[in-house]
Amino acid sequence: LVIYCNGAFVAEEEAKVSVFDHGFLYGDGIFEGIRAYHGRVFKLAEHLKRLYESAKSIHLSIGISKEQMQEIVLETLRRNGLKDAYIRLVVSRGKGDLGLDPNKCPQAAIYCVADQIKIFESLMYEKGLEVKTAATRRNNPDSLNPRIKSLNYLNNILAKIEANQAGVVEAIMLTQDGYVAEGTSDNIFIVRNGVLMTPPLSVGVLEGITRNSVLDLARELGIKTAEELFTRHDLYTASECFLTGTAAELIPVVNVDGRDIDDGLPGEVFKKLLAAFRALTLVNGPE
Ligand code: PLP
Repeated sequence: LVIYCNGAFVAEEEAKVSVFDHGFLYGDGIFEGIRAYHGRVFKLAEHLKRLYESAKSIHLSIGISKEQMQEIVLETLRRNGLKDAYIRLVVSRGKGDLGLDPNKCPQAAIYCVADQIKIFESLMYEKGLEVKTAATRRNNPDSLNPRIKSLNYLNNILAKIEANQAGVVEAIMLTQDGYVAEGTSDNIFIVRNGVLMTPPLSVGVLEGITRNSVLDLARELGIKTAEELFTRHDLYTASECFLTGTAAELIPVVNVDGRDIDDGLPGEVFKKLLAAFRALTLVNGPE
């Protein structure tokens, strides 16, 4: 692979991060996971907007424009000859000393890697996932706001470990108040009484690009939507449930904490939205 590593395109073996990089030392940085389909980078403008908003929120000056950043992403794909790929764009505070003061880091470091990703087996897209709600809670929006896509994913990882230990593949995280928040790297949707529901951003979830696409597609298809708080009870008794994310795309959930969701099969609303999403990936984004 050819990697964009802090100012230069280099071979994978040469792509190295300094031990003084504060992204490594302190998780001080932000990232995006982006996808290219058939040579088009899906929703690239939305990903760049979120990246620059995350940077603003953590007081990080990226040092280059969105246009330049877009060119780094497109050039990484070109140099690797990739048309379908998962792209990881990382901006860290850069090199400093061993103390955490960001003032000691004169320049942000930018990395871009394009590769393949497969977080769930193909069969799971047809059969649906079994998941569990995790004891590890999503952090409050008044501390490290989950809308910041930061390099600190430890609570999500702890939740994933809970899922692994319980023998399921994904965990659902709750808010500090016990409302349903999101998966470890995906947003959650349920269908109740014919309404497609997802938790509001104010509760402390990432503003998923896939989440927003699904909400838009639902409205176009005449499906009622609501961004509303809901509890585990609402989840257990929903008629459908699915997760959304750049890496996961749309994946059905058929069992939560041992309870089948409705008849334990992927639902009709999910199937309609998946078809619409697939169609959208073919036309959206710069080539
Ligand atoms: N929630 C979290 C915590 C994530 O890390 C991700 C992945 O990016 C998502 C949700 C889904 O967001 P998107 O659809 O923008 O990939």
